[in-house]
Amino acid sequence: MRIVLATSNKGKISEFKKLLPNEEVYTFKELIGDMEIIEDADSFKGNAIIKAKAIYEKLNSEDYIVISDDSGITVPAINNEPGIYSARYAGEGSSDKDNNKKLISKLLEKNLKSTAAYYTACICIIYKGEVSTVHGWMHGSVITKEIGDGGFGYDPMFIPKGFDKTLGELNHEIKKEFSHRSKALKLAKKVLDVIL
Ligand code: IMP
Repeated sequence: MRIVLATSNKGKISEFKKLLPNEEVYTFKELIGDMEIIEDADSFKGNAIIKAKAIYEKLNSEDYIVISDDSGITVPAINNEPGIYSARYAGEGSSDKDNNKKLISKLLEKNLKSTAAYYTACICIIYKGEVSTVHGWMHGSVITKEIGDGGFGYDPMFIPKGFDKTLGELNHEIKKEFSHRSKALKLAKKVLDVIL
């Protein structure tokens, strides 16, 4: 069975490929080229379903399992921002650097040097038209500096609970084990075990 990832985020693609080493994994771009998907739901789950459905419908084949991930970081001290807006926090088309800069400035506005934060990932699986969703979380804190160049997105400013270094500095094996995405994928694998 072929797995198609409904994402064009390079960081996510590389993590999914590492997390699914024994599966035949494609990105949707490899199969159907570019496609714009409007993520206008008000939850990670809603957006994950929108992405997976759009790709599933375009592929129009029961030979594929489509997997999408909608994820982001939530900071309770600043009204749960950026949440579902994580990818476009600094505006449509913003880069990871722009988003991190905006988060740092929001924290500094509140005189926060470090505060609790958590990542959420919702993974949606569609097989033969049936939709399943699972979630995973990773708790920790965000700081007002970017340290390290590992991971992607907000990783250089996120310190996972139980560690004293950012995900930008820590070995990727740590993220592979404890991340929101790997936890959600562990649950997703249980769904895949039934299908595959
Ligand atoms: P999505 O592609 O619409 O789900 O947006 C995901 C965004 O959330 C990314 O662009 C990052 O800004 C952020 N994000 C999600 N997962 C991670 C992660 O594992 N590390 C760092 N940032 C993440």
